[in-house]
Amino acid sequence: MARVRRRPRKKNMRIPRLILAIVVILLFLGSLLTILGRFMTATNDNLEEAYKKAADLAGCTWEELVVYDMVRFGNKLDDVDPYQSAVDFLNMYYQIGEYTQVDGEGFWKMVSSGTLGASEDICGWLHLSANSDIQSILEAASEYTRPQYLVRFYPKELDDLMLEKKFNEEQIRWADRLMNAGTLEQLFEHVNDLPYYIQSEVGGYFAWPTPELHTVTSKFSAARKHLILGITRAHNGVDISGADAMGSPVVAIDDGVVLSVNLNGGERGVNIRVQHNMGEDVWVSRYQHLASVEVEVGQVVAKGTVIGTVGNSGISTGPHLHLELTYNGVLVDPLPMIK
Ligand SMILES: [Zn+2]
Repeated sequence: MARVRRRPRKKNMRIPRLILAIVVILLFLGSLLTILGRFMTATNDNLEEAYKKAADLAGCTWEELVVYDMVRFGNKLDDVDPYQSAVDFLNMYYQIGEYTQVDGEGFWKMVSSGTLGASEDICGWLHLSANSDIQSILEAASEYTRPQYLVRFYPKELDDLMLEKKFNEEQIRWADRLMNAGTLEQLFEHVNDLPYYIQSEVGGYFAWPTPELHTVTSKFSAARKHLILGITRAHNGVDISGADAMGSPVVAIDDGVVLSVNLNGGERGVNIRVQHNMGEDVWVSRYQHLASVEVEVGQVVAKGTVIGTVGNSGISTGPHLHLELTYNGVLVDPLPMIK
């Protein structure tokens, strides 16, 4: 490898102004390692860690990376390789300069530049262009006559990636909701199990509980200042409202059995709980602040069955549905799981 060894730079050598940054073999090795990340395999045991590491390498946020996969694969992350997904977030910018001589005067001239987005284009460029040019670097008469490279990787925005991958409107809306839920970390603790416990026919999600209302007015959170009680405390569910919310139908988010109907639920107001058994796992959805109830305890309901109507009962600042969801007794954020 003596030919590629760096020699001390001569003081009288002209440094070309045209090419601001010069990156040669070391950078290519770095780039190739990044690309080769796609061949690394994540273990499901530590999927969350793998997502964070892969996102870190690609320069995107891990939330973007997880949402990208959840929407693409319908929540089924058990066979997904985060490193492979992270490659989709990479943009590559390159400049190539060549040493040119005119009238005995040598200088650097930029001969090509461009931006590559699709991972197959990046791999192709590295394989064809970089491979052959590394050869010419090795064969160059001196380090000063080698082709010069500037290569930079920078991440795409999730929005741009979704356009590039032609996500449909529903997928984009779904991704927005996931990004805005702000509780992906918590969801992630259960994500390995999702294929087993959400078994609905259409895409593996629970149904949206209010077919006519789509505005999320308050998200699930660990602590929030309660508007009426004036104290900071957890918001255990998601609030959904919209125009003409009062009396709007509320549906069961999945097949289940009505566990309780409480017409005098204190601050919860009129509320219904529905139990959804999935194998060994028990999900319970709870619908609060209702105006009316259409079911009774023990009744079997199907996904999408109207069980009541939106109201303002209990402690509530206006007509809305407060939906809570528990998984084996643990409160979880319903928002990423309803569709
Ligand atoms: Zn609420």
